[in-house]
Amino acid sequence: MLPFRTTMAGIAWPAIVSTPGATLLALLFQLEQSQWLSPVELAVRQFQQLDVLAEFLWQTSDFYRERLAAAGWSPGRRLDAAIWRALPILKRATVQSSRAQLIVENAPKAHGRPLEFSTTGSLGMPVQGLGNELTHLFASALIARNHLWQRRDLSGKFAAIRSKVESRVHADWGRVESACFVTGPATVLNSSVDVDRQLDWLQAEAPDYLLTHPVNLRCLLIRARERAVRIPSLKELSTFGEMLPVDLRTLIREVWQLPMSDIYSSEEFGNIALQCPEYPETYHVQGENLLVEIVDEKGAPCAAGEIGRVLISTLHNFTMPLLRYEIGDYAQAGAPCACGRGLPVLARIAGRRRNMLRLSGGHRHWPSFPYEVIQSIADFRQIQIVQHDVDVLEVRLVRAAPLSRETEQVLAAKLCELLHGKFSIRYSYAESLMPASGGKFEDFVSLVAD
Ligand SMILES: [Zn+2]
Repeated sequence: MLPFRTTMAGIAWPAIVSTPGATLLALLFQLEQSQWLSPVELAVRQFQQLDVLAEFLWQTSDFYRERLAAAGWSPGRRLDAAIWRALPILKRATVQSSRAQLIVENAPKAHGRPLEFSTTGSLGMPVQGLGNELTHLFASALIARNHLWQRRDLSGKFAAIRSKVESRVHADWGRVESACFVTGPATVLNSSVDVDRQLDWLQAEAPDYLLTHPVNLRCLLIRARERAVRIPSLKELSTFGEMLPVDLRTLIREVWQLPMSDIYSSEEFGNIALQCPEYPETYHVQGENLLVEIVDEKGAPCAAGEIGRVLISTLHNFTMPLLRYEIGDYAQAGAPCACGRGLPVLARIAGRRRNMLRLSGGHRHWPSFPYEVIQSIADFRQIQIVQHDVDVLEVRLVRAAPLSRETEQVLAAKLCELLHGKFSIRYSYAESLMPASGGKFEDFVSLVAD
């Protein structure tokens, strides 16, 4: 039984929650049902919502009226997949240069005041695009859905080690969630703190749950293994904000034997896709809030198994709508999930274009270099491969001492085999490869222009 928060005098059970809490609960009740809609039924509802948004934008936005007209839509006409795909893709550069044109001055008053930044609290994802109180309610509902999907005990203590936050203790898991649930406390540490101090902090705080960035978690686990540190209170680990290092799940099983869940989120949209509660390596797109398309280089939809560009459309943001926005990530479209949820599936978040290896002749592919294969040749704490030219790679390693000449040669030969090319490989050694504050760690970066 979930710990509903009652606010009415004299009522202990069943709870009568506050009005904001009841609104969130009403949304969660619908999300519980909508997750089981078939993909076809879900798409019908998404287009019903987009019809309303299109009618509104025709009246209020020169920017989108022009785009909708060019795609063949006019008021009164039903949006369908064909018209939708004729809408031009919205580039990041256009959003940056035309931000003022994308903001709608007279969004419905009922949607609340415009909000520049997330107010969803320490566990929420900050949203950099302009939203409003309603879009933040949807963001909070998706954060709460993730707690329910992962079957978290809401009375537990939640710890977050992340960038862009002040280290502090919160009385609850978040303002909106605590409007309908009685939650335990949350405690937050900025991820710029040294990894040994992070481990000491976790031991002292003894949280039930830990949310952090994947590469930070990997560093924590490696250090915990060296120091034989265990955090017996921990029930689950969760990650967000970066691609998962290839060996992370194995490392968790080996060092702390805990379940883990990953979130695909962004600063513009909050939670985009959440890990399936039944099939942990599958991501479910949050289709009640966003329409997510995976398209190939020509703009055609990708079939299951194919990797393509991620386009995202907001269904409810009438303040700064983003329609068919190319976020810059690549993801692999997935087949329907065996759990039975109709929410669309992403099999993998592949990364950004700069994370693709460039080969001669203009070809690019997603590099794969399993850490355990490299680890069997050379021990390392962290690795990053930077492509400086089509045939020149730099391998950056964090370890105690440089590799011997012979090991460097064996590793170079293995990397050429794994990356399917002939490369001149040079090595550099660093104390740490942690990204600058707020940045994402990438284990492969190509500096070769298209
Ligand atoms: Zn599933």
